[in-house]
Amino acid sequence: MFKQFGFAGLTLVFAAMGISASAQQEVNIYSARHYQTDEALYENFTKATGIQVNRIEETDDKLLDRLNAEGANSPGDILITVDAGRLWRAEEAGLFQSVKSKVLDERIPANLRHPEGQWFGFSTRARVIFYNKDLVKPGEIKTYEDLADPKWKGKVCVRTSSNIYNLSLMAAMIERLGEAKAEAWAKAVVANLAHDPKGADTDQLLAVSTGECAVTLSNHYYYVRMVKSPKAAERAAAAKLQLVWPNQDTSGVHTNISGAGILKNAPNKDNAIKFLEYLASDAAQGYFANGNYEFPVVAAALHDPTLKALGTFKADTINVAVYGKNQPAAQKLYDRAGWK
Ligand code: FE
Repeated sequence: MFKQFGFAGLTLVFAAMGISASAQQEVNIYSARHYQTDEALYENFTKATGIQVNRIEETDDKLLDRLNAEGANSPGDILITVDAGRLWRAEEAGLFQSVKSKVLDERIPANLRHPEGQWFGFSTRARVIFYNKDLVKPGEIKTYEDLADPKWKGKVCVRTSSNIYNLSLMAAMIERLGEAKAEAWAKAVVANLAHDPKGADTDQLLAVSTGECAVTLSNHYYYVRMVKSPKAAERAAAAKLQLVWPNQDTSGVHTNISGAGILKNAPNKDNAIKFLEYLASDAAQGYFANGNYEFPVVAAALHDPTLKALGTFKADTINVAVYGKNQPAAQKLYDRAGWK
């Protein structure tokens, strides 16, 4: 039947059907996250807008390498990654462009996005203290500064200083305390270590649960994963741990973001802005944050009962862009302090 219309006729038929081969709306996302809730997150955007989502999922460092290699020819519209320190690395590499969006400015607290719109936070993670309930009494440790107290000699476990979470924590401490005090703190923490820094956050939590050390630092969601684990042994380990929201009488909890920015040569920039605005919507906020048991930046979207049960806390209100700005100084400071 199409034959009789010829090419022009065929195009007309397609147009009447709402199909346009040349103008298929799409957005290309490079993402370092991959969670079960992501499928619904992306599908709902396509349902609402008709914009198809194409995804490349890789680890953070591989995505940056790939984008750097692709340069101006990159088909990427959006980069999603975790930690403001990593977003800063992408920013430093010139991968992002600044965007202005009234929706994003209104929905996302100012300290959780780049001052010029290079990237935006869509969920937050808290880096907090955990102690072993059999070894430490409530109230014995209340601040990050307390980790430097000599009473914890041989009882502190930490991961390495090159880890992005620890770099961002130190970057914030430098901003707050100045380099001299921050360095004195790092040296004192190193003097308290049970053993050389090793392993990931979950390893620190497990070491505290067995009593190998008494206190540690970890992002909160690793603990939530243990609490919700299908494995009885992991739930039992979590039961040994007490979470402490540090610095409630002073600076507040060190928080970081999972975030995204629009790539410099984004071929589908308008669609990319629509996607980021969608991520800030109530519905998408739930999916985005729940995927990793993070806190949505739109507070009303917090629904997870385990997260709610952790209680409310005062967060540091420092702009997370500082974590990038102070990152080189943070690594040098850790090196001087002997924090491996
Ligand atoms: Fe993590």
